[in-house]
Amino acid sequence: MSTVKFYRPEHQVPLEMHKVRIVQKLFLLPVEERQKKMAEAGNNTFLLHNKDIYIDMLTDSGVNAMSDNQQAAMFQADDAYAGSETYYRLKRAIKETMGLNDMLPAHQGRACENILAEAFCRPGDLVPMNFHFTTTKAHITRCGADVVELVAAKGLDANNLDPFKGDFDIPRLKQFIKDHREQIQWLRIETGTNLIGGQPISAHNMHEVAKICHEEGIICVMDASLLQDNLHFIKTREDGYKDKSIKEIMFELCADMDIVYFSARKLGFARGGCICSNNEKLMLRMKEYVPLYEGFLTYGGMEVRSMEAIAVGLYETLDEEYINQGPLFIEHLVNELHEYGVPVVRPAGGLGVHLNASEFFPDMPHGQYPAGALGAAMYIAGGIRGMERGTISEQRERDGSERYAALELLRLAVPRRVFTLSQLEYVADRVKWVWDNRKLIGGLRFVEEPAVLRFFFGRLEPVSDWQDKLVEKFRADFGESL
Ligand SMILES: *Cc1c(COP(=O)(O)O)cnc(C)c1O
Repeated sequence: MSTVKFYRPEHQVPLEMHKVRIVQKLFLLPVEERQKKMAEAGNNTFLLHNKDIYIDMLTDSGVNAMSDNQQAAMFQADDAYAGSETYYRLKRAIKETMGLNDMLPAHQGRACENILAEAFCRPGDLVPMNFHFTTTKAHITRCGADVVELVAAKGLDANNLDPFKGDFDIPRLKQFIKDHREQIQWLRIETGTNLIGGQPISAHNMHEVAKICHEEGIICVMDASLLQDNLHFIKTREDGYKDKSIKEIMFELCADMDIVYFSARKLGFARGGCICSNNEKLMLRMKEYVPLYEGFLTYGGMEVRSMEAIAVGLYETLDEEYINQGPLFIEHLVNELHEYGVPVVRPAGGLGVHLNASEFFPDMPHGQYPAGALGAAMYIAGGIRGMERGTISEQRERDGSERYAALELLRLAVPRRVFTLSQLEYVADRVKWVWDNRKLIGGLRFVEEPAVLRFFFGRLEPVSDWQDKLVEKFRADFGESL
């Protein structure tokens, strides 16, 4: 995105510094069909078929558009079981973009988490972090340890406008370590906290946390999956960083960490995962799990073509004109929705737009999954697929009781470099329609509920005939239109 100024300030929009050279045909089904498809998918947007979706805002994972240079690099991938030149190119890219010497490959972000949990979690351990991510938590609890969230209070307040809502609560962290030092082996910093609206953490806070870890001998780990958005926010929002290059900020942050891992389905605009470090001892403790779970040490379950694309993608991550596209599009959509009165998490974060379902449905019982209901309504209203980030995304407690999420959000992810501004305008239009018709919308209940990661394949049904009423209203307002 460029900062080019428009002649008419009222028409100022984010301006792409790339052009689209490959396109994919999309389809928008009639609203009655959409209702049927939503029912067939058990009111779980994960279970929809992609062909039935007009705007897929489920995730930013593995669906970002690649650049011409990434595609070109894929042709020169070196296919070898061991010692592939591609591995060394990717390793060099990590050294040159993050300043980290060594890398263990894994097939995606959660595979890195599996390895971290296996290597550094004993039963009864506690792993402090600003906020959990679904797959992180699943791996840590599978190994008998528990996640402890220490995000500052502002992070859980959807209406707090602080620029860095992903920050740790430092006094709480210190106290927590004092009380539980024996149970803590490692701490995890999530840059661009996924589940609370892609909200960034400040460089200042990260340095403070890292300092505490170093003093205490706790392994400081950064989940850098959403780091590219966070880098943009540090540069544009944090005092003292305006004149630093993205590369300087990246090096500064990574230098303070013992381990940096990431999902290359996000960072690097491709598909895969990497665990990076300058600490040989720590790498040695994780190394044995790569051939066990992933593949040989020089591909780790990744396809070599993807590894070439990640390498190029990492260099592109240092280009502010590439990485600011997501955040600026998101900000555009957030501002438009906010001005209309739609409750949306602010300030705009990375990753996507987060609708606050609790405010859409203040009277809906928490156990009827407001964010899930809003997700079903958005698909019916516009063929738009979002992701529930609320109670359905939580795991039940060990005793089987429901664990209510701190925030009930419907996330509309904005995959990087994929949608046009007119498509986002359409999304804004349909969100406004759903907002104006929110009183018609009711809750959901489970019909099939898996014990682990239930949000991926659980099936639900509406608690009433509210979806019929919503479709009727759509027809009344839009006539024959799709
Ligand atoms: C997506 C994500 C992961 C998991 O990565 P996958 O490649 O989807 O397995 C881990 N942490 C964060 C913060 C993420 O956003």
